[in-house]
Formats: sequence, structure tokens, C-alpha cells
Amino acid sequence: MNQQLTLALSKGRIFEETLPLLEAAGIRVAEDPESSRKLILQTNDANVRVIIVRASDVPTYVQYGAADFGVAGKDVLLEHGGEGLYQPIDLNIAKCRMSVAVRNGFDYASAVRQGARLRVVTKYVQTAREHFAAKGVHVDLIKLYGSMELGPLVGLADAIVDLVSTGSTLRANDLVEVEQIMDISSRLVVNQAALKLKREKLQPILAAFEQASVQRA
Ligand code: ATP
Ligand code: MG
Repeated sequence: MNQQLTLALSKGRIFEETLPLLEAAGIRVAEDPESSRKLILQTNDANVRVIIVRASDVPTYVQYGAADFGVAGKDVLLEHGGEGLYQPIDLNIAKCRMSVAVRNGFDYASAVRQGARLRVVTKYVQTAREHFAAKGVHVDLIKLYGSMELGPLVGLADAIVDLVSTGSTLRANDLVEVEQIMDISSRLVVNQAALKLKREKLQPILAAFEQASVQRA
């Protein structure tokens, strides 16, 4: 069996924070995606290559076997649904939280108490729907692809559901965090067929990732 492995990563923090885990498995990526325009990056291991895809596309590449494994945020995995994916390890990287935020001065608590119907903008429609349904809060969800913070400032929405780490983007846009929905970190996802067919090549890498990420936890 061909033991050639393809790893799907997104540019930015996931790529940066996965590098030390790859290093722990003896794998060094030959090029930097920030300076190279290449979407397929070779490594020092002739049997391992890295493809650079949108963060939200990582589960799709792995699900269909175009990548054998990948790294994706819990936020992205919940929206995707995880179909066809084996999720063995929480890598404890790219940590943040998913939260509800509103414009400074908007009384979220009393709006909820009064049973008001809230307009919410988010990229995370599935997760947001489940969160508000579980709390019995009535919402109209509006899907956006970015710059969620703008929604409440221009009258598109009362609230946003988005990822927060330091809170500085919220503060810069006069928004306040009113509810934390869940903690987010990135997970390793593996194609279920690759896990069986390429076990020999995959297993030592998964073990090294696991050990390196436990040390980070
Ligand atoms: P795209 O540009 O493809 O729409 P994106 O903007 O979500 O994707 P990033 O901002 O690089 O891409 O985020 C990738 C992942 O990193 C997210 O899915 C999430 O798990 C994590 N992440 C996002 N924002 C933060 C943050 N502020 N702090 C820590 N991790 C974050
Ligand atoms: Mg982003």
C-alpha cells in the first residue's frame, strides 16, 4: 500500500502552531505559506506533504480523502458535522472561546428575560442555533462570512456569536462579551479509510502529536 501522506492545514495560527507538533514527529515543512504562493508544500520526509486550504475547508478535504489528515478548530468541526472523520486528539492549539457579544449598553440579560426575539449575526449558524435553543432564547440567525463585529454597529443585528481570545477586537468595536458558549481548540482529524490503510505511516505521527500536545495542555 502506498504510504504517501497528505496533511491539510490552514494558513496563520493553525499552521504556525502545528509546526512544533510536526517537528516532534521529525517533520519539517520546506516552505513558509505566508511567503510562498504554493498550495502544496513538501517536507523533509518524501512521504509527507502539506496542503494549504481555508480553515473551514479542512474537514472537507479529509472527509473525501484528498487529505489523509488535517488540523481544524472545534468551531469548524461542529459546523461541518464531522462526517467521515476520526477525531483522535485535541491538540490544545489555537485556543479561544466562542461567545455572544452585544453593543456596549445593550441590555442582553433583560432582553432575554423579556423573551425578546434577537437578531444574531454569525459564521457559526449551527452551533449558535443549538446554543440559543438550549437556553430557550428566540433568535433570527443571519449568516456572515467575516467582520461579524460590524453587525450590531450598523443595525444588522442585536448580537454576534464569534470567537474571542483577548477581547481586543470586541473592545475596538465597542462590543462586550455577555455569554461564553464553549472553549475552542484545534483537533487532529483523520480520514477513516486512511487510518486503516496507512496505519503504519500514520500511527507514529499521531503518537508524536499526541505526546507533544499533552505536554502543552
Ligand atoms: P477563513 O479565513 O478561511 O474564513 P478563519 O478566518 O476562521 O478562516 P483563522 O482566523 O485563521 O481562519 O482561524 C482558524 C481557526 O483558528 C479557527 O477556526 C479557530 O479554531 C481558531 N481561531 C480563530 N480565531 C481565533 C482567536 N482569536 N484565537 C485563537 N484561535 C482562533
Ligand atoms: Mg480569520
